Formats: sequence, C-alpha cells, structure tokens
Amino acid sequence: MAGNRTFTMIKPDAFEAGNSGAILKMIEEAGFKIVAMKATRLTPELAGKFYEVHKERPFYKDLCAYMSSGPIIAAILEKDNAVEDFRKLIGATNPEQAAEGTIRKIFAKSIEANAVHGSDSDENAAIEGNFYFSQLERVL
Ligand code: ATP
Ligand code: MG
Repeated sequence: MAGNRTFTMIKPDAFEAGNSGAILKMIEEAGFKIVAMKATRLTPELAGKFYEVHKERPFYKDLCAYMSSGPIIAAILEKDNAVEDFRKLIGATNPEQAAEGTIRKIFAKSIEANAVHGSDSDENAAIEGNFYFSQLERVL
C-alpha cells in the first residue's frame, strides 16, 4: 500500500525568485497538508550527502553547488498516495518536458534549477524527512 507522506524542498532558484508562497499555495490546493516545515540552507557537503545517489552522475558537482547557493524551504507533506501524487504535481525533471500546470512548468528555470524536489519512493521520503527534521520537529 502506498504511504501517505512525502518530502519536498523549494530549491534556491524558486526561493530567491520569491515563489515560495505561490508554490506552497499550489501544494495546499492540491490537498497536501504541511506536517513539518522550515527555511534553511545546505552547505555543499550536506547537499552532497542529500544527493549522494547521484554522485557518479556528470551533473553532481554542479548540483551540490547549486543546492547550497542559497536558502531553501524543506517540508514534510501528507496526503493519500503522497509520493506519486506529488511527483505528478511537480512535473518532469526537465521543465521543457513538464506537463502544463505543473509546478516545474510554471516556476522552473532549467533542468538543474527546477524549483522543487519531490521524493521518489516512500522509503526515500522517510529518509529525507529524517535528514532535515528531528523527532521533536516531526510531532504532527
Ligand atoms: P529531485 O530528486 O530534485 O526531485 P528528480 O527526481 O526529478 O529531481 P533526479 O534524477 O533525482 O530528478 O535529479 C536530481 C536533481 O539533479 C534534479 O532535480 C536536477 O536539479 C538535477 N539534475 C538532474 N538531471 C540533470 C541534468 N541532466 N543536468 C543538470 N542537472 C540535473
Ligand atoms: Mg530525484
């Protein structure tokens, strides 16, 4: 059975552009409840740890530099079928291929600076939520 939680980040490009409020509005209107949230900033080392699965990919170094280039918002979201439904809401990694009306289609600047992160499995949603939030911050 699909889980009911996912994890998201509003990435540095969207935060810097002042799109956090508009993106959170779309997330809430799509039926997701925010159960933990904070504004913070990754160091290059922490970005490297978060995206460790991509460490052999050619874009890894740039991705770590970009993800630590400015503040982000991290949040745990709740909804039935959360992981899959949230991936639909954000759209394809490359905004040129993202469906009309998706968050990346509307707000992403490029395949790298693509506005938002969404977990790709229930297991990773839990790992990523735990990466950012202590037990006391995950009380809801
Ligand atoms: P995310 O994990 O951030 O939700 P995703 O699951 O759609 O994105 P991944 O394949 O996990 O895509 O890639 C992680 C991130 O690495 C992308 O969101 C993007 O910021 C960056 N990225 C992916 N592919 C490329 C690429 N070809 N060139 C540059 N950056 C890329
Ligand atoms: Mg991914």
